[in-house]
Parts: sequence; structure tokens; C-alpha cells
Amino acid sequence: MKIFIYLLLSSIFFVSYGQSFLPTNFKSAYEKGTRSNDGKPGKNYWQNSADYKIDVEVIPNKRLISGKAQIVYNNNSPDSLNMIVFRLYQNIFQKGALRNFNLNSIDIHDGVSIENLVLNNEIVNDTSKSSYRVQGANLIIFPSNRIAPKSSVKINVDWNFSLPIKSRVRMGAYDSTSFFVAYWYPQVAVYDDLNGWDILPFTGEQEFYNDFNNYEVNIKVPNTIGVWATGELQNVDELLRTDILSKYNAAKKSESVVNIINEEDYKIGNPYNTEGEYNVWKFVAKFVPDFAFATSDHYYWDGCNYESSNKNIKNVFISAVYNKNSKDFYEVAEISKESIDFFEKKSPAYPFPYPAITVYNGDGGMEFPMMVNDGSTNSRASTVGLTSHEIAHTYFPFMMGINEKLYAWMDESWAVMLPFDFQHQNGGKQLQNNVQAYSDFAGHESEVPPIVPSYQLRGRAYRMAAYTRPALSYYFLKDYLGEQKFNDCLHDFMNSWVGKHPSPYDFFYTFNRVAKEDLSWFWKPWLFDYGYPDLAIKNVKNEGNTLSLEIYKKGNIPVPIKLKVITSAEEKTIYETVKVWKDKETHFFKIDLNSELVKIELGDETIPDVDKSNNLYEIKK
Ligand SMILES: [Zn+2]
Repeated sequence: MKIFIYLLLSSIFFVSYGQSFLPTNFKSAYEKGTRSNDGKPGKNYWQNSADYKIDVEVIPNKRLISGKAQIVYNNNSPDSLNMIVFRLYQNIFQKGALRNFNLNSIDIHDGVSIENLVLNNEIVNDTSKSSYRVQGANLIIFPSNRIAPKSSVKINVDWNFSLPIKSRVRMGAYDSTSFFVAYWYPQVAVYDDLNGWDILPFTGEQEFYNDFNNYEVNIKVPNTIGVWATGELQNVDELLRTDILSKYNAAKKSESVVNIINEEDYKIGNPYNTEGEYNVWKFVAKFVPDFAFATSDHYYWDGCNYESSNKNIKNVFISAVYNKNSKDFYEVAEISKESIDFFEKKSPAYPFPYPAITVYNGDGGMEFPMMVNDGSTNSRASTVGLTSHEIAHTYFPFMMGINEKLYAWMDESWAVMLPFDFQHQNGGKQLQNNVQAYSDFAGHESEVPPIVPSYQLRGRAYRMAAYTRPALSYYFLKDYLGEQKFNDCLHDFMNSWVGKHPSPYDFFYTFNRVAKEDLSWFWKPWLFDYGYPDLAIKNVKNEGNTLSLEIYKKGNIPVPIKLKVITSAEEKTIYETVKVWKDKETHFFKIDLNSELVKIELGDETIPDVDKSNNLYEIKK
């Protein structure tokens, strides 16, 4: 077993699997047995959870979201908690708030208004007391009594805020009734075995770190408005007009897409129940890391069923909900179904974890559990790219509870890499685009290793570290290990950590164990070190019928060798995976030629390389 010790940002040390040296904050997790060095959860692993019962009203003309929640927070940890942390995400719209995006002044407000907050019968929303602290998007409460280990605390909270209309960071109002409502309720932050309470600031850049909770959410809207949400709809019979209900029921059993609500349906009249002025849409979601919902009084609704290999759910109900002007969205339900089929059968070749998914036509591209908020694109390949990326997030981070504030590369990069082949089959060039983006930026002083905690990054550095570079690392690791072994490693990791909070070391240790190889030689350059990929052609000798040459790994990041040898009569392609770089810097080739050498080309558009000037050898005539 190779041993290396190195320095990262002068404070964090790491050594390969089998050694005991870890970041200092990880050490006690291994000592206490909450994690184990074979990469599996330790025998003392624990995590906390909450049960949310929420009644929320949407008041469209004020864009107001007003809710009342009863939360039971379960402290499964061995610690007695002297504080409890809530996330008030919408505080990023407060004047002077810390945020990583540009805000239109029309959207500035005073933050989330907490009307009432009771913890175990103690009224705690007394802003004059030091036991009530609002720190950006975090609200920290110090209750009179500690929350004992293995006990629960009952929380009642009433709150409201208004939706943004211009600065729609992954949510907001798209027109007078079409709203995507996310980051919307006072959410108990994560308390974990590695860092205790998560009080890292929410700035709008990093997306999630959530526990797995149960939700019962009742959403009250005017009777002309439809609602789509995380979880499963409980009272559909009370909500839909009879003809719409029969189309909905047909869609739930149909492999092909059914237009549940379209233009003709709106012409007939209100597609919903008109007995009262308001309807209450009731949703239940079990063991999910968040809850989001969306509304509209004029969007079209397509639906179909996907028969899943997941024995627990059997069927996935797929919906696309969209503005009629978004022509690409007419195909989104079908594309979603094909994406899920690809995920189940090819990559990651793992059963889809949830019984429903709705792709809603807001803007940008953003995932929530069982909900996606996507803008319209101008080509089918882009729509396939966006849809498959966001749905891939169902696995990471919604099945695997990744801490994206610290390890966005364990989440975004999988959503980039898992659908590469599906996107390619549909005319997309996502692999090539990522290779190009990485080649353009790798080795720049602002290009940092993915292991740097994500909350410290923003902009291009964040995108490269969270998305592009780690996605390519997985792609080349799969190429090296082969599909079978790579999937064995990945499935072991997924089976071990489904519904839990894996760290980078759980990931490395699992792959090392299942692959039966210390992969530190690969993890270190790709994920821990500054640097760049650069292969070069060296020492070409062409004697008689024998061509000999060296490929030199000039940059520290290992990438495969693809050599094209062109002679007057033929073209030979030679390929080596990253394995050749395990223990050397130069790889030697001897190639028999039976005709005159013309040129040698190294690499192509699927292999990143920062300097292409040393990738070509030509016989000068
Ligand atoms: Zn993503």
C-alpha cells in the first residue's frame, strides 16, 4: 500500500485508505464509530430527522406565501443540544444580506416574517432576547431546556414572505399565478456527527444540505389554480374536474404521454373543483430531504407512468407542467421517461428512488426532491441535457444526502457525468463541452481542487470544482476500472449511504475497498491537488518499419492516451486508460508500420489537455 501525506491549503491533511491521518474534524467520527474506514457507516452512525405538518396558503395577487407548521424534531444523536438552528432561506432578500447573486431592488424585503415560534410550549420568538439570533439566513434559538439525546422537540411556527419576481434564484413568480415555491419554510438545519450544527451561511450559490424528513403539506390556493409538489397527491378526486380526473387516472397507467390539461380543457372552463372559492391540495412525502411545490392557472400538464425496477415503488408518475409557448416542453414528459429508463438500466444502473417527478417550466435549471424547475431551451439536445441533468439529481443529493455546502463535487458532478451517454445519443456534446471548459481553465490560479470546501468558492471556480473537473474524473475512473467494477463500487457506496450523509472519505474508502485497490494515485491529482492535464509527444524515432515514441505526462492530472498514427497507407488508433500513469511519468510505445509515417496526433475532444502544441508530430516534406 502506497503512503502519501500532503498539505492542502496549509491546514488539512489526508492520507490514503488504511492510514489513520484525516482532517481533524473527521477524526472523532472514526473514534466514536459513526464512520468506519471501510467506507461504510459505522456501527454508531446516527442522524436526526423531522416530521413536518404544514398548512400553507398562496395569495397570488400579493405573491405571498403564508404558512403554519407543526414540526417534530428528533434528536437521535448522543448529544444534548443547547441550541436549534432554523434556515430562513428567504432572508437572502433582506437589505444588506450576504448573497452570491445580483439582486433587483424590486425584490428586496425584510426577510421572513416569523409571527409565532414555540418550542415545547416555550414562546421563543422574542427578538429582544439573546436566545434569539438571526444570522443571515440562519435563525438560532437557545431554548431554556436542552434537547436531550434520543428525545424530540415540538415546534410550532407561523411565517410568511413574498416571492421574488425579478431575482428568481431557483424559485419565484414567473407570472401572476405561475410560481415555483422552494426554500420556503423554516427548516431545521442539519446536526451531524462531523461538524455538529450546520451554520454555514446560505448565499444562494450552494444548494442543499438536508436531513431526511417526512412531510404532510396542505396547500390552499384559489380554485382556478393547479398545484404540483414533492410527494404524492392525496385528494386528487376532490380537486380535478371529472374529465380531467379520468385523463389523470389514464396517465398514471399509461406508458405513452397523456395531455392531462391542454388548451381545449381550459376552453371548456376551470379544470379544477369549483365548489368552493379555494381548493386545498394535500401532499404526503416520506423520507425526503426537502419539499417544494409549484402553481399555475394556465399551464399545460402532461403525464405518464414509468414502470420502475424499484420494488418498493413499482411505478414513477412523471409530469411535465409548462407554459404553452415553451415548445420544447411538449416533449419533456417523454424525455423525462427516457432519462429515468437510462438511469435505471445504464448509468448509474440503479433503481429510481422516488415514486413521482414533475418537471415545471419556470426558468434556469434546478432540482428539488421529485420536482424540477427548468427554463425553456432552444434545441432538443439542450432540453435533453437539462432535463436529464436535473432528474439525475434524484440520486445525488436526494437519495444520497450529500452536504453540498462542503462537497458540491459529490453531487453536481454526478448529475453531469451520469447522463453523458444519454445526452450523446440525443445529439448532445456535454462530454466534449466539459472537456473544453476544463482545458480552458485548468491550471489557472483561480482553478482550485474540488476538495476545497464548496462554500468558500463562487462563480467559475465553483463551477469547475463542483461540476466539470470531478465529472471528468469519474468518467476517466470508469474508463479505467471498466463498467462492471465501477458500478460495483458505486452501487456499494449507494447501498451503504442511501438516506444518509456520506463524506468524501466514505466515498474514497468504499471505492478503494470494492475495487481492491488503493486509488490514491488517482484521487490525489484529480481531487486534492492544484494542477492541470497536459500530455506531450516526445522522442519520436522512425527507423525501418518501427516507430518508437514516448508520451510524457507533463501535467500532474492523469488522462488517457489516444494516439492516432497516420501513414501513407493507413490510420492506427492506440488507446490507453489512465492506468499507465499509476507509477510513471513517461509511457513508451513501439509500433510496427508497413508504410511511410505522415503524422502522429495525440488526444482528441474527449480528453482534456491544456497545451495542444505538443500533441502533434508531423513529417516535414
Ligand atoms: Zn445540478
